[in-house]
Amino acid sequence: MSARLLMGAEVAAEIRAELRDRLEAITARAGRPPGLGIILVGEDPGSELYVRSKLKAASESGLRADLERLPATASLDAVLAAVDRLNRSDVHDGILVQDPLPPGIAGGTRAVFDAISPEKDIDGFHPINVGRLVQGRAVLVACTPSGIVEMLERRGIPIAGRRAVVIGRSDIVGKPMALLLLHRHATVTICHSKTPDLAATCATADILVAAIGRPFFVRSTFVKPGATVVDVGINRVSDPVLAATLLGPDSPRLAALAQRGSIVLGDVHQEVADVAGALTPVPGGVGPLTIAILLKNTLLAAEGRFSVAAGARG
Ligand code: NDP
Repeated sequence: MSARLLMGAEVAAEIRAELRDRLEAITARAGRPPGLGIILVGEDPGSELYVRSKLKAASESGLRADLERLPATASLDAVLAAVDRLNRSDVHDGILVQDPLPPGIAGGTRAVFDAISPEKDIDGFHPINVGRLVQGRAVLVACTPSGIVEMLERRGIPIAGRRAVVIGRSDIVGKPMALLLLHRHATVTICHSKTPDLAATCATADILVAAIGRPFFVRSTFVKPGATVVDVGINRVSDPVLAATLLGPDSPRLAALAQRGSIVLGDVHQEVADVAGALTPVPGGVGPLTIAILLKNTLLAAEGRFSVAAGARG
């Protein structure tokens, strides 16, 4: 392996440490710590895990964090009522509705995100915050792409004047990622499932961001030698045959799969480490950044409510 590893977990720890003074200041000013309200509908095991780590990170950082649970059978109206309660709450500055909603009400996901007050929308999903991001004056920006940009900047990866390719055009990762890079003066291409000559397009990138959701999809032929490759993918693989095909029969990670029943693989093949100049590992790369920015966004929301000047980050 020749690539330098970009350890998001270390950057996340730096970000969280830097929040301490601001948290103390806003707590003194508001007379209470910033508050995060999380709504979890149903019992999806992946969502349970994500919510637990968000609650833990929030309380470790000195934020107030409250979880409102609704059963998988909850109606869309019940979820909207829970959002409304948090919108009107004096002690909650940030609101997070854990995605995905159960299948019965998944069609209402957009309505639920639209119902969150833009000032408390710490995921940056509300159309007002997305519009502000397009104009480069957002305060609350989607956590994963926001964290990636912080990591690139903190680790000295130049963005201005560079060519960036983002694979994936979701509202949560791909599109905001492309906008953040564009605002930092990269020349940005967004690729998706209908992009012709995908590998050749990716191989033009100085910065390649993979947010696809397919294990080991990005091969070394996609990567310009020396490029920075950011692997957003979180793909849980439990099939030992598939894992052995992807990782090779001698990979030590197969033992971990046998022990735990599954492993997490990124969207970027391990062979890319021999071509890239810098690379985020999975796990330990992008994932921890998302939670650090969630805490930061809750602080920004509280600062906004209590009129502490907060600079635009979009
Ligand atoms: P989505 O499924 O919403 O989007 C996936 C994107 O990949 C789509 O734009 C899709 O194109 C594109 N795509 C799919 N197949 C191909 C293909 N064969 N060639 C080119 N493009 C393709 O996923 P998300 O953006 O929500 O998430 C992406 C990945 O990132 C997932 O693994 C997810 O788990 C992970 N993730 C990780 C986070 C973290 O904190 N580390 C946070 C959020 C997500 P099209 O639009 O044409 O369908």
